[in-house]
Amino acid sequence: MTTTVDMTFKDLNLPEPILQALEKVGYEKPSPIQAESIPLLLKGHDLLGQAQTGTGKTAAFALPMLANIDPEQSKPQLLVLAPTRELAIQVAEAFQVYASFSQKIRVLPVYGGQSYDNQIRQLKRGVQVVVGTPGRIIDHIKRKTLDLSELKYLVLDEADEMLRMGFIDDVELILSHAPEERQTALFSATMPGPIKKITQRYLKDPKHVKIASKVSTASTIRQRYCQIAPHHKLEALTRIMEVEVFDGMIIFVRTKTATVELADKLSARGYDVEPLNGDIPQAARERTVEKLKQGQIDILVATDVVARGLDVERVSHVINYDIPYDSESYVHRIGRTGRAGRQGDAILFISHREKRLLFSIEKTTKQPIEAMPIPSISEINETRLSRFKQSVAEATQDDSIESLMPIVEMIKAENEASPEVLMAALLKIAQGDEPLILKETDRPDINSKPPRDSRDSRERGSRDGRDGRERKPKVPRGNRKPEEGMQRFRIEVGHVHGAKPGNIVGAIANEANINSKHIGAIEIYDNFSTVDLPDGMPKETRDTLAGTRVAGQRLNIREWSDTPPPKREGRGDRAPRGDRPPRESRDDRPARGNREERGGRDRKRKN
Ligand code: AMP
Repeated sequence: MTTTVDMTFKDLNLPEPILQALEKVGYEKPSPIQAESIPLLLKGHDLLGQAQTGTGKTAAFALPMLANIDPEQSKPQLLVLAPTRELAIQVAEAFQVYASFSQKIRVLPVYGGQSYDNQIRQLKRGVQVVVGTPGRIIDHIKRKTLDLSELKYLVLDEADEMLRMGFIDDVELILSHAPEERQTALFSATMPGPIKKITQRYLKDPKHVKIASKVSTASTIRQRYCQIAPHHKLEALTRIMEVEVFDGMIIFVRTKTATVELADKLSARGYDVEPLNGDIPQAARERTVEKLKQGQIDILVATDVVARGLDVERVSHVINYDIPYDSESYVHRIGRTGRAGRQGDAILFISHREKRLLFSIEKTTKQPIEAMPIPSISEINETRLSRFKQSVAEATQDDSIESLMPIVEMIKAENEASPEVLMAALLKIAQGDEPLILKETDRPDINSKPPRDSRDSRERGSRDGRDGRERKPKVPRGNRKPEEGMQRFRIEVGHVHGAKPGNIVGAIANEANINSKHIGAIEIYDNFSTVDLPDGMPKETRDTLAGTRVAGQRLNIREWSDTPPPKREGRGDRAPRGDRPPRESRDDRPARGNREERGGRDRKRKN
């Protein structure tokens, strides 16, 4: 019998076109939640999935539902409700990828802060899949611009978040408008009472899927995590590789494509690295592993599938570049180090949204994972300098330098420069193109925002329409005043802290007990943001909000009129545009761009 661990997407009976789309995107095998949920959804069961972001839950419902969508029927057949604009966009983008096999299946993200006209036009033109936030979906139902009469599937994604943000009444209203005959799936990381109630009321005899693992990790492994925005992962990785003393390293990513891309990038930076994925024939894979054993390469960039059971003693570090789906695969991954009683190091990269998965790994493994700051430029410089000094000291002990003495004598005789100046000159030559000591501007600023094109989809705002064409620019709000009955406030969290409209809405809705539909325009600037809230906020609520934290920052909320107008350096004269984050300007990009283009020469320094 095939256990879920060994399952392939083929075993799940997904139609061939979907399998091809998955091949294209580079997925090797279903994640545990996918292996369990897809067969149940394909059989038509309602589903209750306990899973957080990062487990692959989107594909767990998207794939089986897409398999049964009728592309000829243009009324919405599938509705996904998501708590935030970001998640709605992210889920819609995932659907577009998985549905890439069909020209006819259209997916529409629908959320507040975006013009109704465009949404209505697209709904009229016909869409099969709608992914939206509850408030805007209700508005469309009320305006009769969203027809749910043909709905076959309804998904509540991150149900506990919807509850936390005060959407639960809206969700119930939508559920009560959906046809009785439908399949419903509810995904939630936790199962608080009100979510259980919804499940009992609106799901029919649901199957419960919960990926629980009982696992433990070796105590010889030091576990750390690094919270990092997805677009800064590569920079964080290269910094870590410079300061950590490592022998062999395995870097885990999720897709076959990512193994090749990341290996190429590291190789361009001078590392001895190879990808390892399921597309590589077995014999070649074995050769690659042998090379790692023999020290011909130091780094493997691998997917879970191919790295299972890998036993190479010299692997001192495992980097979870992409977070694993669950605690069990985390434990398998980090078990590739700390072999044969040696000490090992495991470093996990997580984004803000994935923090829950980190907690659940800590809970199941019953081991804390310590926070690790990303090495600063001065730390890198310290390491570089001490390694350089050490290699000079070692070279002085090398007998072969005797033969170089006549050359030294010759240079001394022919130059008037002092021995210090001569040494400095030789040092400069030894450095080559890459300076020994970096300036801050030599490396991308890890606190900066991403360049537009390289942003991870979950971070990206929606500028492109479903068809990839640029949407009509929204009317600039400029100095437009807050809407009637609203007042504008300044809060001390901005882009540099990693603030997102979703976090701000969530925190305010939760802490101030303000229904999120009453939270107006949000504008995020580099160091602060503005938010429009209902007029006449009681003092206690303001006090609560002053102390509330978003992305680790106290909001210190105050009336906008108290503060000078925002500086818009590098942003042209663009004006606030509702809850859409300002478009990044070129000035936000790292000062000297990507080291790959400049042909970096950092190499792993062996001890
Ligand atoms: P989710 O938990 O749905 O937010 O998915 C998290 C990430 O995992 C997304 O970037 C997906 O593209 C990726 N992902 C989902 N399923 C798979 C899979 N079977 N293989 C590789 N990557 C996957």
